[in-house]
Amino acid sequence: MSASPSNEPLPPLARPLKHLRGVGSERQAQLARLGLFTVEDLLLHRPNRYEDRRHFRSISELQLDEASTTRGRIVALGLKRFRGGQRSVFEIILDDGTARLHCRWWNLPFMQNYFAMGDEVFVFGKPNSLKPRTIDHPETEAIEGGEESFIHVNRIAPIYPLTEGLPQRWLRSLIWRTLEEYEAQIPEPWPKGFSGDSARAATAGASLSFPPRASAIRMIHFPEVMEDIELARRRLALDEFMALQREIQLRRKKFEAKARALPCGGDNRWMKPFLARLNFQLTPAQTRVLRELRHDLGGVHPMRRLLQGDVGSGKTIVAACSALMALESGYNVALMAPTEILAEQHFRTFKGWFEPLGIEVRLQTGSHKPAMGNPKAAVFTIGTHALIKAGFTPDRLGLVIIDEQHKFGVTQREQLVRKGAYPHLLVMTATPIPRTLGLTLYGELDVSVIDEMPAGRGRIKTFVRLADKLPKVWEFIREQLAKGRQAYVVYPRVEETSGGLKAVTKEFANLKTVLAPNRVGLLHGRLKSSEKEQVMAGFRTNTTQVLLATPLIEVGLDVPNATLMLIENAEQFGLAQLHQLRGRIGRGTHDSYCILVAAAKSREAQQRLKVLEETTDGFRIAEADLKLRGPGELLGQQQSGLPRFRFGNLAEDWELIKLARDLVARSLAAAGSGP
Ligand code: ADP
Ligand code: MG
Repeated sequence: MSASPSNEPLPPLARPLKHLRGVGSERQAQLARLGLFTVEDLLLHRPNRYEDRRHFRSISELQLDEASTTRGRIVALGLKRFRGGQRSVFEIILDDGTARLHCRWWNLPFMQNYFAMGDEVFVFGKPNSLKPRTIDHPETEAIEGGEESFIHVNRIAPIYPLTEGLPQRWLRSLIWRTLEEYEAQIPEPWPKGFSGDSARAATAGASLSFPPRASAIRMIHFPEVMEDIELARRRLALDEFMALQREIQLRRKKFEAKARALPCGGDNRWMKPFLARLNFQLTPAQTRVLRELRHDLGGVHPMRRLLQGDVGSGKTIVAACSALMALESGYNVALMAPTEILAEQHFRTFKGWFEPLGIEVRLQTGSHKPAMGNPKAAVFTIGTHALIKAGFTPDRLGLVIIDEQHKFGVTQREQLVRKGAYPHLLVMTATPIPRTLGLTLYGELDVSVIDEMPAGRGRIKTFVRLADKLPKVWEFIREQLAKGRQAYVVYPRVEETSGGLKAVTKEFANLKTVLAPNRVGLLHGRLKSSEKEQVMAGFRTNTTQVLLATPLIEVGLDVPNATLMLIENAEQFGLAQLHQLRGRIGRGTHDSYCILVAAAKSREAQQRLKVLEETTDGFRIAEADLKLRGPGELLGQQQSGLPRFRFGNLAEDWELIKLARDLVARSLAAAGSGP
């Protein structure tokens, strides 16, 4: 927090915590460790659980392995040391008149400083034995009399995340007192009369009702009934989502106010012969998306559009058509892909498509600089993030296309767009983004979805197998190879690491033996670009039948004759990433097989992998992944663009996120063009 430059008094909630009674420099430092600096931070410090201290289990009612809260008086305590003093156990015995409870702390001798004979304590934990009743390492809190005791007992008490040296009880008292002093000064961001029933009315049909913000903050700390907690959380989450939506929507409005669109709608002179020469028809979904793109490219605001479509749904051809529109209009186009291999593949594909039309196609990667052609002709440049570097200075850049957007950060996207004078932007992603993330991360983009696969594809069957079944798996793969198909074999890492990961380089030799006489190629990130291209060429032309690779091949590759995908140590991957890898197969007319091999012991992982056996719907898989691993893991790179929510939950709050978007849109429209 920087000091305010003027002499204006700080808004009350922005005051630093040292202004509060009882917060000295030591406490202030402890609170800072929890990320709490201002009164507002403290008021938004979210309990991680609650204890209903109006009803307890008596000690005699405690059940094995069931987490509960109980209370009692200390009737015995002591520290035992053993192994020459290296190990210790500190124990207290509580009695509540119904039974006795042993609480033990292993190797934490300093715990003895916190308890004395005759103290009354709350205990929370899971009994690990009933004879005698014992809880190891419970959470405890002393029950003290005095004027503030009503804050801690005979109510639903909040239990906060703590840091070393900060007592639960002290923090709870501080929050109570701070609420007393500041509750009336908590600003209400919603217009007057908007909360409660009128918010419900505004949400037309959705059964949502929200307390005022100040009440929600009190309720999240000191709920009267358990239901208050979720009610309050939803209000505070909605505020978070609305703040974000406001930022996103204002940014978009500002952008539209200042940026004029280049006319890139095209005149069909290349599009017509291009589509006529394709050996397939566009799907209805592809056609619909193209209409949306043409509308944008000929519109008054520069296009800002996200194209979502599951792996294999045919986004590349849509990108090609939109590029033609801009090229026909006399503008140049750039396409950025996350890996050299994918850029090379696109280069070959687009050359085959565009050169017959007289359009120059260039490749610009770290290892490949384009030859300069006639500067006046329409140019389509494909590249990796080398495009962002200074060397690439296109004139008349009309359209920027980013493939596999989820592999780039938001800043990289912006850097490329800034190379032109407000070029149109099309970002494509095969990572099905859960709806909630779509609205938060890509909130300022319009969205088009390709929601059907081209006809005539074979099915993909997926199997989860434990490592001891590998011999059978190899046999199956040999049979398929004998029928003329090709296979990917994916390993998690390049070099041997601890933890029993098989090394892809070592496995290479093994695979050649197991799958002989088939030829095996090896592809990983440490190869030189020219070597990678050679390996890919071998696989594309079926000179090698098997490609042993690292997850490098996850994005974009398109070899329709490859119908087998074996992924070893599959438990180390996220579901969304496995789905991407699986998307390399099932691209031709033959049935495909994906075999996920999990390390023998990982039962839990096996369970998780079953989701992939059950569905090939990328959206369902992404949503499952989001719940299991959270947004940061799911999105990799992108997490940089993701705000942190205290109360909002990206995996669960779809309804709230949608509501936030609509409420903000409505309030901005009502306010006219300016904020
Ligand atoms: P992705 O959406 O994963 O980028 P691609 O664009 O690589 O998918 O397309 C996958 C394969 O489907 C390619 O071989 C492509 O030529 C083919 N394809 C695309 N559209 C159609 C269509 N309408 N009919 C038949 N095949 C198609
Ligand atoms: Mg693709």
